[in-house]
Amino acid sequence: MITSADLEEKFKSGRKVLTSEGKTPGRIGFIHCVGSRDEKVGNLYCSKVCCVTGVKQAIELKEMFPSSEVFNFYMDLRMFDRHFEELYYEAQQKWGVSFIRGRLSECSENPDGSIILKTEDTLTGKPLKMTVDLLVLLSGFVPSGGTRGISKRGCIPCRGA
Ligand code: SF4
Repeated sequence: MITSADLEEKFKSGRKVLTSEGKTPGRIGFIHCVGSRDEKVGNLYCSKVCCVTGVKQAIELKEMFPSSEVFNFYMDLRMFDRHFEELYYEAQQKWGVSFIRGRLSECSENPDGSIILKTEDTLTGKPLKMTVDLLVLLSGFVPSGGTRGISKRGCIPCRGA
């Protein structure tokens, strides 16, 4: 299990993207809204960039591993800014990335390092159980201490501060 920041670092440095067992991932899952829009962690705001990051990284993994299956689990997709909606269509139509609307309810690791996901497909209303080789968490953003300080002085309104 890695975060989208870890994955981006691998892309940038040219390091191989492998499973925890050092294998090429055959099935990859992305979980949207990790740490954002979640009352339990106290962050109700949308981080705004993780949906497009998830779509971009899903395409990059399909380019890297054409025979892999890639699934994005989302609550609702928020593709802010121009041309991002087109990227979402490209991910589905050109690259075969699957988008499943559903919030993850449970996640556990098998002895071989693969990960079991339990969720509900909220479009069909059916529970879903799936095993993936690599799980990418689209973690949200929180303001830094400095940003919080500036916000508290009233200069810039800041969510999460
Ligand atoms: S994953 Fe999408 S909907 Fe969720 S917080 Fe990030 S941008 Fe917002």
